[in-house]
Amino acid sequence: HIATKERAMSSFDPDTIGIEVQNNFIGGRRALGQGTPMEVRRPSDARVYAALDSASAGQVEAAVEDAARAYRTSGWAATDPRARMKVMRRWADLIETDMALLAPLEALGSTRTIAEVLAWDVSYTAETLRFFAEFADKAGGEVIATTPDKLGMTITEPYGVVAAIAPWNLPLVMAAWKIAPAIAAGNSVVLKPSEMTPFSIVRIAELAIEAGLPAGVFNVVQGDGLSVGDPLCRHPLVSKVSFTGSTRTGIAIMEACAQTGPKPVTLELGGKSPQIVFADANDIAATAATVARAITLNSGQVCVAGSRLLVQDKVANEVVDRIKAAVEAHTQGQTWSAATTIGPIISEKQLGQIDGIVSRAIAAGGEALTGGSRAAAPQEGSYYAPTILTGLGQDAEAVRGEIFGPVLTVQTFADEEEAYALANDSPYGLAAGVHTGDLNRALRATRALEAGTVWVNRYGRSNDFMLPTGGFKQSGIGKDLGREAYMASLKTKAALIQL
Ligand code: NAD
Repeated sequence: HIATKERAMSSFDPDTIGIEVQNNFIGGRRALGQGTPMEVRRPSDARVYAALDSASAGQVEAAVEDAARAYRTSGWAATDPRARMKVMRRWADLIETDMALLAPLEALGSTRTIAEVLAWDVSYTAETLRFFAEFADKAGGEVIATTPDKLGMTITEPYGVVAAIAPWNLPLVMAAWKIAPAIAAGNSVVLKPSEMTPFSIVRIAELAIEAGLPAGVFNVVQGDGLSVGDPLCRHPLVSKVSFTGSTRTGIAIMEACAQTGPKPVTLELGGKSPQIVFADANDIAATAATVARAITLNSGQVCVAGSRLLVQDKVANEVVDRIKAAVEAHTQGQTWSAATTIGPIISEKQLGQIDGIVSRAIAAGGEALTGGSRAAAPQEGSYYAPTILTGLGQDAEAVRGEIFGPVLTVQTFADEEEAYALANDSPYGLAAGVHTGDLNRALRATRALEAGTVWVNRYGRSNDFMLPTGGFKQSGIGKDLGREAYMASLKTKAALIQL
């Protein structure tokens, strides 16, 4: 382990980071997984850096049973909500205090640069816990008038055991979005992180115990989707599933939940989000910088990556030239290097998929204005050059499908109507960006775009926790963050009292 905060700052030596051997967390303590071990590679240099001890089928059972027992007997759900709040705040404080260990652990095997993790991921994870802690005593029901001889009311109750399944792209933050509302609301949680980024969250589970969360309220089981994720979702004691990942997996999970429940699901899925630039955008240089950032952040491995540029033809050349300069200015490199501004692609498999889509786009007549292939340097690891594709029609695979890499397609439009038609002609509806100096146009766009989030004259969220996030169409069901995510962690009971 990194011993001092100073060593964690700005860069670190990957070979000094020790990985614990027990990476499941069941019933309040680390447990050695008894399933088939898996190799975990760090994408920055393609080296296997640890073996992941996957949970066996019996351990998945045990974790769910422990969570159910904790729900019934630990008193967490029955604790005074303000006391629950205190535990969660203490948990958040411990996470921030543990930055020197957590930050390199998060950056080491993921695509997140150490600079990003230090500046954002760890403290944002803590802040997500604090945000949902605040709701613990604010989920009152309603009194509902019916007839004078009866009194109706609604009462909210936790589900019991919630299964959470997280992706690899922002390992800590995505897990926090799932576990914070569920635990604040009094549920017990069994989380399965991605098998590609499994280690940092176990440390968070240890800190939960230190903060005073009863054993069994938060459990972690490790392994792949089929041998661990699927049986977890199907377990009869799991009452709700909260998932973030690809649309394909989301559909499989919903099927599993239908067959074994039916149980409710929250699904945060893929996207193909447009960024629309009108000729009247306030500041073309700043707008182009925003567009470039929205496709290069985390090397495009962000669900809301702004992957389709729709630009009004009058300003297209200027905007695209500026974006090209901005994406070419990045330094690609290892996540542990202070000089890196964008890190690697999570795996060779993912890189192959990105390259396949780009190669087919070029073969079909598209042109790569920049990039278009694996990055020339660094030689080791999985790096893809930021790519701008033009000359593609609306039906092209690269325009329609999620690429999940640093690949921006460019299409032009003549007027507002055409912009919205192109933007909405997508199976996805996760997010959209609009850049215009015209307030009326901005408001029209906000209404016209079929997306769960519309950003105007910016792209991406910051600390706006109250805004729910989630997709329309094939991008998902339900919301993370906001009051909605908290309320979705509770079920509503109706009572009718004869007076
Ligand atoms: P993925 O669907 O491959 O895997 C996500 C998780 O599901 C992993 O933990 C995996 O092990 C597990 N899993 C796989 N098959 C399963 C099954 N049959 N049953 C249960 N669990 C199973 O996704 P990924 O590649 O890890 O993440 C990238 C995807 O996530 C992209 O499509 C991205 O858009 C999406 N994403 C969406 C959001 C959002 O908020 N909408 C946020 C981040 C990522």
